[in-house]
Amino acid sequence: MDYKASEHIQDLQYFGEFGGVNPSISDSSTYTFLSAKTMFDTFEGNTEGCYLYSRHSSPSNLYLGEAMAQLEGTEAANVYASGMGAISAVIMQLCNANEHIVCSRTIYGGTFAFLKNFLKKFNISTSFIDITDLEIVEQAITTETKMIYCEAVSNPLLEVANIRALSNLAKKYGIPLVVDNTFSPLNINAAKLGADVVVHSLTKFINGSSDCVAGAVCASSEFCLSLKDVNNGAGMLLGSTLDSLRAASILKNMRTLHVRIKKHSENAQYLANAFERDGLKVVYPGLKSHQGHETMKTQMNSEYGFGGLMTLDVGSLDKANTLMELMQKEKLGYLAVSLGFYKTLFSAPGTSTSSEIPLEEQEKLGLSQGLIRFSIGLDNNIHETYLSMRSCMEQLGILGKTVRPILTKVP
Ligand SMILES: *Cc1c(COP(=O)(O)O)cnc(C)c1O
Repeated sequence: MDYKASEHIQDLQYFGEFGGVNPSISDSSTYTFLSAKTMFDTFEGNTEGCYLYSRHSSPSNLYLGEAMAQLEGTEAANVYASGMGAISAVIMQLCNANEHIVCSRTIYGGTFAFLKNFLKKFNISTSFIDITDLEIVEQAITTETKMIYCEAVSNPLLEVANIRALSNLAKKYGIPLVVDNTFSPLNINAAKLGADVVVHSLTKFINGSSDCVAGAVCASSEFCLSLKDVNNGAGMLLGSTLDSLRAASILKNMRTLHVRIKKHSENAQYLANAFERDGLKVVYPGLKSHQGHETMKTQMNSEYGFGGLMTLDVGSLDKANTLMELMQKEKLGYLAVSLGFYKTLFSAPGTSTSSEIPLEEQEKLGLSQGLIRFSIGLDNNIHETYLSMRSCMEQLGILGKTVRPILTKVP
């Protein structure tokens, strides 16, 4: 991979109304037309380059959309009021009643619930399959299938999808490949690897300050415009519009994404190495022991590492809960869902973000109750963090005090 996303984002230059270094924030829900004829044309569908009403688009949302398009290297991008707002719009734009979707079985709980429960209203069915087994993916495709859906690095099991191979398969059947790249912005350029539509929750790493909810769709200009269509666009008509003030603040945070992702990855790799060496069950794509390690290596932008997410299996939900409470007390992070914050966030997905997935399905996926998902923070001294986390684990008997000598330096 040699797409220089962060350089492209940094090169986007807008001057504010008074020459400010940040673009002015658009503070209007509606826009004047100089002639009645232009207003008519706009409502007839000829909306390109025209502001109409802020649910359709606003200057601030377009600036953020341009930065998102640069991130993925797509022609265009639309922004939404949440990741789910983006995901549900894409799915409803691509699928009609009675059609079918092939989807990875390890995905974000909200997306799972939307596909499995909500879309029943329209008799749209989904086959949830092991996305890493291409034969199974291909067998699941029927004449009614309208898309293959997966996450580049999956929530919460950190499975790595082979995007190039899935894209070839999707092309063979003439259907789009939709990839949620929330866990790996900059690490993986899903569109450059062949994804037709890339969706993001901006709430996570891209905004990075856990102060708002937002989403994006990166795709061809044609598809992005179709989502905005005043007569038929799911984005326009379902109405999950991002507020301009938020779009402006997310754009400013996006300027530092490359620095943050490198640090999140560096810290996560350090802890994953250390805890694996201590004999814990660690899942991290940057470990040789990870099933998707080789796939990840062939499709990542290596300067950004393997991402900031890691899981530890501590054996039982009780142990997971006591450990998380203790780590929070020791100021090692917060017992909270979400990811991409400067502080480490930890949660037990089985009873939180993936609780939409029925228990027996969780077990089939290998999502055990003792699993803790960590979004590793931007700690300046990760070795100190490691020692403190280790000490918490020793107090609770998760790690034996004398099992191995404590790691004293960077592995
Ligand atoms: C959080 C998340 C979403 C949903 O995004 P919201 O902004 O919360 O609506 C979708 N996919 C993944 C992988 C996520 O982590």
